Amino acid sequence: MTLLYEGKAKKIHATDTEGILRVEYKDEVTAGNGAKKDYIEGKGRLNNLITSKLFNSLKQQGLESHFIEQISETEQLVQSVDIIPLEVVVRNIAAGSITKRLGFDKGHSFEQPLVEFFYKNDKLNDPLITDDHVKLLHIANDDEISTLKAAALKINEALVSIMDQVDLRLVDFKIEFGKTTKGDIILADEISPDTCRIWDKHSDVNFDKDVYREDRGSIIDTYQTFLNKLEAL
Ligand code: UDP
Repeated sequence: MTLLYEGKAKKIHATDTEGILRVEYKDEVTAGNGAKKDYIEGKGRLNNLITSKLFNSLKQQGLESHFIEQISETEQLVQSVDIIPLEVVVRNIAAGSITKRLGFDKGHSFEQPLVEFFYKNDKLNDPLITDDHVKLLHIANDDEISTLKAAALKINEALVSIMDQVDLRLVDFKIEFGKTTKGDIILADEISPDTCRIWDKHSDVNFDKDVYREDRGSIIDTYQTFLNKLEAL
């Protein structure tokens, strides 16, 4: 089947059914907008299993996404959507770029979850943008911006609760949304340790891509341990 798109971590293929795509998770891992890059066997499988599990859990809580079903260890079927070129980041605890940008100490708990928009544009290095920028770039209008923020916060609540049940803290995560042919905005892309920061509640162990970014051990062992925790739910 036709390969429609190949990104850093996934390939998107057409299927025989209009409106349905096949996502194949790749064994590649990158950090720093591709500056660090490796092939790590088994990583695609883990992110596919974790994303499928999390999208299914969100669905059970009434939160729809593009996800239809997992069809193999490394593949899932999804609804075709037009991806909105925003990385929507939700933060509960300070880590990563916000510690450098605004001087929050790593580990600082925010009084309320923070939603940020980054413009998905590799050439520009995915800059942080304001609501007004989003409007001027014709990415989304006021109503759509409100929809994106409200959805991101609901997804955060649901994910925090899932992580809490397995003694983990959801520090931050990045999600993407897409528009259906009807114009509805739905959650798309993936939710995996590549796109979240997840810390143990009782120790300084973490279960996310920072292990790779900071060369602190095997991401396969890390992601597998995280999956095992989710499967115990
Ligand atoms: N994130 C992501 N893709 C990106 C940038 C960030 O999935 O291109 C995730 C990242 O894993 C973290 C959250 O978004 O969970 C916030 O990332 P941050 O802005 O702190 O950027 P970083 O310093 O991690 O690049």
